[in-house]
Amino acid sequence: MSDNCIFCKIANKEIPSKFVYEDEQVVAFNDLNPVAPTHVLIVPKEHRLNLSQYEEKDEQLLGHVLTVAAHIARELGLEESGYRVITNAGPDAGQSVMHTHFHLLGGRKLNFDKQ
Ligand code: 5GP
Ligand code: ZN
Repeated sequence: MSDNCIFCKIANKEIPSKFVYEDEQVVAFNDLNPVAPTHVLIVPKEHRLNLSQYEEKDEQLLGHVLTVAAHIARELGLEESGYRVITNAGPDAGQSVMHTHFHLLGGRKLNFDKQ
Protein backbone atom coordinates (compact mmCIF):
# COMPACT_ATOMS: atom_id res chain seq x y z
CA MET A 1 0.00 0.00 0.00
CA SER A 2 1.37 3.36 -1.01
CA ASP A 3 -0.17 6.57 0.29
CA ASN A 4 -2.09 8.58 -2.29
CA CYS A 5 -1.92 5.83 -4.90
CA ILE A 6 -5.26 5.64 -6.66
CA PHE A 7 -4.85 1.97 -7.68
CA CYS A 8 -3.86 0.97 -4.12
CA LYS A 9 -7.05 2.66 -2.93
CA ILE A 10 -9.13 0.84 -5.54
CA ALA A 11 -7.43 -2.51 -4.83
CA ASN A 12 -7.93 -2.04 -1.07
CA LYS A 13 -11.57 -1.04 -1.62
CA GLU A 14 -11.04 2.37 -0.04
CA ILE A 15 -12.58 3.64 -3.26
CA PRO A 16 -15.61 1.50 -4.07
CA SER A 17 -15.28 0.04 -7.57
CA LYS A 18 -16.92 -2.70 -9.55
CA PHE A 19 -14.36 -5.44 -10.13
CA VAL A 20 -14.47 -7.48 -13.32
CA TYR A 21 -12.23 -9.99 -11.53
CA GLU A 22 -10.53 -10.38 -8.16
CA ASP A 23 -8.32 -12.93 -6.45
CA GLU A 24 -5.60 -12.81 -3.79
CA GLN A 25 -3.03 -11.30 -6.12
CA VAL A 26 -4.84 -9.08 -8.60
CA VAL A 27 -7.94 -7.01 -9.23
CA ALA A 28 -9.40 -6.01 -12.58
CA PHE A 29 -11.79 -3.16 -13.29
CA ASN A 30 -12.92 -1.03 -16.21
CA ASP A 31 -10.76 1.91 -17.23
CA LEU A 32 -12.22 5.32 -16.37
CA ASN A 33 -11.50 6.62 -19.89
CA PRO A 34 -11.83 3.63 -22.18
CA VAL A 35 -10.07 3.76 -25.55
CA ALA A 36 -11.82 0.63 -26.82
CA PRO A 37 -15.22 -1.02 -26.24
CA THR A 38 -13.45 -3.34 -23.80
CA HIS A 39 -10.79 -1.62 -21.71
CA VAL A 40 -10.05 -3.48 -18.51
CA LEU A 41 -7.14 -2.75 -16.19
CA ILE A 42 -5.54 -5.74 -14.48
CA VAL A 43 -3.72 -4.55 -11.39
CA PRO A 44 -1.46 -6.52 -9.03
CA LYS A 45 -2.60 -5.67 -5.49
CA GLU A 46 0.93 -5.12 -4.24
CA HIS A 47 2.16 -1.60 -5.00
CA ARG A 48 5.08 -1.36 -7.41
CA LEU A 49 5.94 1.39 -9.85
CA ASN A 50 5.96 -0.60 -13.08
CA LEU A 51 7.41 -3.66 -14.81
CA SER A 52 10.95 -2.42 -14.11
CA GLN A 53 10.48 -3.39 -10.48
CA TYR A 54 9.88 -7.11 -11.08
CA GLU A 55 12.49 -9.84 -11.12
CA GLU A 56 12.76 -13.59 -11.61
CA LYS A 57 11.15 -14.21 -8.24
CA ASP A 58 8.02 -12.46 -9.52
CA GLU A 59 7.49 -14.78 -12.48
CA GLN A 60 4.52 -16.51 -10.87
CA LEU A 61 2.71 -13.19 -10.40
CA LEU A 62 3.53 -11.92 -13.90
CA GLY A 63 2.44 -15.21 -15.46
CA HIS A 64 -0.72 -15.07 -13.37
CA VAL A 65 -1.56 -11.62 -14.72
CA LEU A 66 -1.52 -12.98 -18.28
CA THR A 67 -3.60 -16.01 -17.31
CA VAL A 68 -6.13 -13.67 -15.70
CA ALA A 69 -6.13 -11.54 -18.86
CA ALA A 70 -6.91 -14.63 -20.97
CA HIS A 71 -9.65 -15.61 -18.51
CA ILE A 72 -11.29 -12.18 -18.60
CA ALA A 73 -11.01 -12.03 -22.42
CA ARG A 74 -12.76 -15.41 -22.60
CA GLU A 75 -15.49 -14.26 -20.20
CA LEU A 76 -16.06 -11.12 -22.28
CA GLY A 77 -16.26 -13.10 -25.52
CA LEU A 78 -13.12 -11.61 -27.07
CA GLU A 79 -11.39 -14.86 -27.93
CA GLU A 80 -12.38 -14.94 -31.59
CA SER A 81 -12.28 -11.23 -32.41
CA GLY A 82 -9.00 -10.79 -30.55
CA TYR A 83 -7.56 -8.47 -27.98
CA ARG A 84 -4.33 -6.89 -26.75
CA VAL A 85 -2.61 -6.83 -23.36
CA ILE A 86 -0.09 -4.08 -22.71
CA THR A 87 1.67 -2.39 -19.86
CA ASN A 88 3.23 1.07 -19.97
CA ALA A 89 6.47 1.48 -18.02
CA GLY A 90 7.94 4.95 -17.69
CA PRO A 91 7.68 8.27 -19.49
CA ASP A 92 8.30 7.18 -23.10
CA ALA A 93 5.49 4.65 -22.77
CA GLY A 94 3.19 7.34 -21.40
CA GLN A 95 2.67 5.73 -18.02
CA SER A 96 0.34 8.01 -16.09
CA VAL A 97 -0.61 5.95 -13.03
CA MET A 98 2.43 4.96 -11.00
CA HIS A 99 1.18 1.54 -9.90
CA THR A 100 1.77 -1.44 -12.22
CA HIS A 101 -1.22 -2.23 -14.41
CA PHE A 102 -1.97 -4.11 -17.60
CA HIS A 103 -4.48 -2.88 -20.17
CA LEU A 104 -6.76 -5.47 -21.75
CA LEU A 105 -8.17 -3.94 -24.93
CA GLY A 106 -10.64 -5.33 -27.41
CA GLY A 107 -13.89 -4.88 -29.26
CA ARG A 108 -12.43 -2.93 -32.17
CA LYS A 109 -9.50 -3.07 -34.57
CA LEU A 110 -6.50 -1.84 -32.59
CA ASN A 111 -3.85 0.34 -34.19
CA PHE A 112 -0.37 -0.65 -33.14
CA ASP A 113 0.49 2.74 -31.69
CA LYS A 114 -2.68 3.12 -29.68
CA GLN A 115 -2.98 2.10 -26.06
P1 5GP B 1 -1.28 4.39 -18.13
O1 5GP B 1 -1.37 5.61 -18.98
O2 5GP B 1 -0.56 4.67 -16.81
O3 5GP B 1 -0.77 3.16 -18.83
O4 5GP B 1 -2.77 4.00 -17.78
C1 5GP B 1 -3.48 4.56 -16.73
C2 5GP B 1 -4.92 4.28 -17.01
O5 5GP B 1 -5.64 4.40 -15.81
C3 5GP B 1 -5.55 5.25 -18.02
O6 5GP B 1 -6.09 4.51 -19.11
C4 5GP B 1 -6.62 5.96 -17.20
O7 5GP B 1 -7.78 6.22 -17.95
C5 5GP B 1 -6.88 5.00 -16.05
N1 5GP B 1 -7.29 5.61 -14.81
C6 5GP B 1 -6.70 6.68 -14.19
N2 5GP B 1 -7.31 6.92 -13.01
C7 5GP B 1 -8.31 6.00 -12.89
C8 5GP B 1 -9.29 5.75 -11.89
O8 5GP B 1 -9.38 6.43 -10.86
N3 5GP B 1 -10.15 4.71 -12.10
C9 5GP B 1 -10.07 3.94 -13.22
N4 5GP B 1 -10.97 2.94 -13.34
N5 5GP B 1 -9.16 4.14 -14.19
C10 5GP B 1 -8.29 5.17 -14.03
ZN1 ZN C 1 -0.33 1.62 -5.53
